[in-house]
Amino acid sequence: MVEVEFIKENSIFIRSGSCNRCGKCCIAYDKHPLLGGKKIWCKDLSFDDKGIATCATHEAERPQICIDNPIYPTPCMVPEAIETCGYSWIINPALKKADALKKFNNLCDLCHRKATCEFYNEIIGEINTSLIDE
Ligand code: SF4
Ligand code: SF4
Repeated sequence: MVEVEFIKENSIFIRSGSCNRCGKCCIAYDKHPLLGGKKIWCKDLSFDDKGIATCATHEAERPQICIDNPIYPTPCMVPEAIETCGYSWIINPALKKADALKKFNNLCDLCHRKATCEFYNEIIGEINTSLIDE
C-alpha cells in the first residue's frame, strides 16, 4: 500500500482562489467508476434558481473531506468541476523535484483514472520545469 501525504503544508499542490458554489465537488460514485459506478450527488446538496449550490449540513457537522475538498486539482478530485471550480493550483514550490515526483506518482498509483488520464503528463511536466533537484 502506498502512503499518500494529505497534510496540507506538505502537499504537492497549493490551492488558491475561492469557492463559487458550483456544487460539482459534491459528486460521488455509488461504486468504483471502472466497474460501472453511477454518478450520485450528495443528498444534502440543493441548488437555487440561479444554480448556486447550498449544503444542508454546511454549518453543522460536515465530514472532514467536505471541509478539505478539493485538496488536489479538479481533474484528479472531481473532473466534472474542471470548467466551473473557482480554485486553481500550483505545484508546491517548497518541494524538491524528486520528492514531488514521488508524491505525485504515489497519488496516481492509487487513482482509478490512471489508465486513461490525460492530465498525468501535464503535471509531471509542470513538476519538472517548476522545481529544482537540490
Ligand atoms: S467544485 Fe470548486 S467552486 Fe465548485 S463547489 Fe466545489 S470547491 Fe466550490
Ligand atoms: S492519474 Fe494522477 S493526474 Fe490523473 S486524475 Fe489520477 S491523480 Fe490526477
